[in-house]
Amino acid sequence: MQEKICPACEKGKLHQVNDIISELGGYIFVEKGERCDKCREEFPYQEETQETITAARKLGVWPEPLKLYRKLSKSGRGIVLRIPTDLERQMKLKGTEEVTITKIGSRIVVEVTKEK
Ligand SMILES: [Zn+2]
Repeated sequence: MQEKICPACEKGKLHQVNDIISELGGYIFVEKGERCDKCREEFPYQEETQETITAARKLGVWPEPLKLYRKLSKSGRGIVLRIPTDLERQMKLKGTEEVTITKIGSRIVVEVTKEK
């Protein structure tokens, strides 16, 4: 495979990655694409971007974006993030699910992994 030079900085090489984070309407999507090893610029694949938009539409977050700004709060044993009620309703959360918390760069991704 031929090495691609980053079009942004023209110095770095592009590497295939599968953890490009896009945000649509407050939802986080992970896409495949390429990332520069110098300037860290990310270039998601066109078809991936299209898939994300399609998925977002199915979720009903496009073109009606939900804004999910929340403040963390402190409880006795740690920091608490409250899930907004519109998201709770949309994802039919009962509040008893198990979640996986993944740190990707400066972002925290919460996935519902098990329904109880
Ligand atoms: Zn670059």
